[in-house]
Amino acid sequence: MASATPENLQILLQVQEKDTQILAALHKIKELAERKEINEIQKELEKLKETISTKESEVHENNRTQKKFEDEVATIEERTEKQKGKLFGGEVVAIKELQSLEADIESLKERQILIEDQIIEVMELNEPIQNEILDLEEQLARHEETLVKLTKTLQEAIQNIETSIDQITSEKKNLVEGVPNEILEGYESLRSRSGHVGIAKLVNRTCNGCNLDLPAVEVDRIKKLPEDIIINCEECGCILVR
Ligand SMILES: [Zn+2]
Repeated sequence: MASATPENLQILLQVQEKDTQILAALHKIKELAERKEINEIQKELEKLKETISTKESEVHENNRTQKKFEDEVATIEERTEKQKGKLFGGEVVAIKELQSLEADIESLKERQILIEDQIIEVMELNEPIQNEILDLEEQLARHEETLVKLTKTLQEAIQNIETSIDQITSEKKNLVEGVPNEILEGYESLRSRSGHVGIAKLVNRTCNGCNLDLPAVEVDRIKKLPEDIIINCEECGCILVR
């Protein structure tokens, strides 16, 4: 059975305290409130970007429709010019033909007015969408600004905790200087097995490592053993300091 001096066990209890603090600090890093906030803002940003992209597609589609109408107007204007050229060019003299040219020019004009109205309609359609996009882009910029701030706060918070972990680690290092390696390794391996506790006090019948009560017979047996014999908790395996 392994043995350790009561002094060494007292030091290990302090080491355990440091290790518990380090674990708590690491947990705190994981649970920093900024992480959740950043996550939510990032989701919000994604949503905004998607909405903007949908709105932009609408504008794009309307622009294409507008361009199609404008091309049509250009074609009509071209044809109108051509017909006017014939009407006033002097080459056509037959009344019927001249009347048909006039009628054609008239109907082209009507068609042009109709399409120009449609162009205005499309442009009017785009106006509110473009305003919405501007509004969404403003929201996006604000969110991005908040994200930068939060990320900075998070990094600073992590940095602070890491500094305190470094501090605790160096305190731990100082503590263990006089402790034999064998005892230290034993403690570390017990601690890594349970996840956090390698050594704990036995208070009355209770192991402070797992908070479970030991059988009275076992406690009696332990109390009778020489002080330097290492005893482990039956439940969690940690070294018991009695
Ligand atoms: Zn225990």
